[in-house]
Amino acid sequence: MRFHTDTAYNELRPHFQERIRHDELLARYCTFGVGGPADIWVSLETREELVDLVRYCAERHWPLLITGNSTNVLYADAGVRGIVARVACKAYRIEDQGDGTALLLADAGVSWPHLLQELAPLGWGGLAFGIGIPGTFGGGVISNAGAHNEELGQVLEWIEVLDARGVREEDEDGFTLPLTRRYQHDELNLSYRHSRFREERRVRFDERGRLIPARRRMIDPPEIVLMLGIRLHREDPEKLHAEIARYKQYRKMTEPPQRHTGAIFKDPPGDQASRLIALANLKGKKHGKAQIAESNANYIVNEGGAPASDIAALMVEVHQRVLDQCGVDLELDCELHGDW
Ligand SMILES: Cc1cc2nc3c(=O)[nH]c(=O)nc-3n(C[C@H](O)[C@H](O)[C@H](O)COP(=O)(O)OP(=O)(O)OC[C@H]3O[C@@H](n4cnc5c(N)ncnc54)[C@H](O)[C@@H]3O)c2cc1C
Repeated sequence: MRFHTDTAYNELRPHFQERIRHDELLARYCTFGVGGPADIWVSLETREELVDLVRYCAERHWPLLITGNSTNVLYADAGVRGIVARVACKAYRIEDQGDGTALLLADAGVSWPHLLQELAPLGWGGLAFGIGIPGTFGGGVISNAGAHNEELGQVLEWIEVLDARGVREEDEDGFTLPLTRRYQHDELNLSYRHSRFREERRVRFDERGRLIPARRRMIDPPEIVLMLGIRLHREDPEKLHAEIARYKQYRKMTEPPQRHTGAIFKDPPGDQASRLIALANLKGKKHGKAQIAESNANYIVNEGGAPASDIAALMVEVHQRVLDQCGVDLELDCELHGDW
């Protein structure tokens, strides 16, 4: 079955009511504040809604893009075709193991800062380093999000995914319905901003330095994080509050006030992308309303009204200049989605 926006909207609207939108500007939802319309945009509040929507789209061969809080993506000015579904399932529970540790069972849509406000007074530590990461835990698994020399992989025990790899565009009849499966920590291939899911999301530069976004899948990504099992440990609530306050203060001092995503490029081994970009004399460099931040050259800020194309042009320029002047082939950390 081909995707028709009106048909899909009319079929899904009775279930999602005001949480589903037609031709919805993605700029409203991503931290860069840029991006054209999604044919359909929907917010999913429970794990059941997420599983049902993926299965529904799989059966109909409707294109579906799964996102978290869109804090690590740049959406194209032309927007995204098909359905964009934001995972906003936020249920969690803490199982005290009685040995000074606990297992946190968190839905993929739980947001880091929100959860930390609740864990700190309860005296459960292990995740405080993520106070300045505005994404969801689902998005956090994909890039093994981290800060202050710690990362999610250090406390992650397992995840549950919905595996839709059996659904292929070219194979309209024979396909396997998405199934849930569990990956243990050691199966996730976690390292610096990397997991087993990251390679196929990677944006590359071709030999002429142009951006090549990752190939879009019909159900994208084909493995969707539903739930995480995270190990917490007992800590003094006062110490936790102080640690969180220190990290917040550090962010305040180092992050630009304008809209942006996280770091644009990964740090290359043994060096910092921000140092190399500054060395290439690109601090403050502008392209239209997009600018390399003065405070940290590995951020691009939207000064207000920048199109995605300006931001992408700056990414290309930074990559090329650092390659020419420092001989380092920087890898993008930020992802590109939509019709580029
Ligand atoms: C101000 C600011 C500061 C930041 N600081 C840091 C930092 O210190 N460290 C750091 O690591 N990052 C940082 N980031 C980047 C970002 O917050 C993280 O990468 C975060 O983990 C992304 O989560 P998200 O929910 O926003 O994912 P999104 O940006 O929505 O999506 C990112 C990728 O994950 C996929 N995805 C999302 N949810 C799921 C799911 N449930 N199942 C499968 N795939 C999914 C999407 O399809 C996409 O491929 C920062 C961003 C901002 C704006």
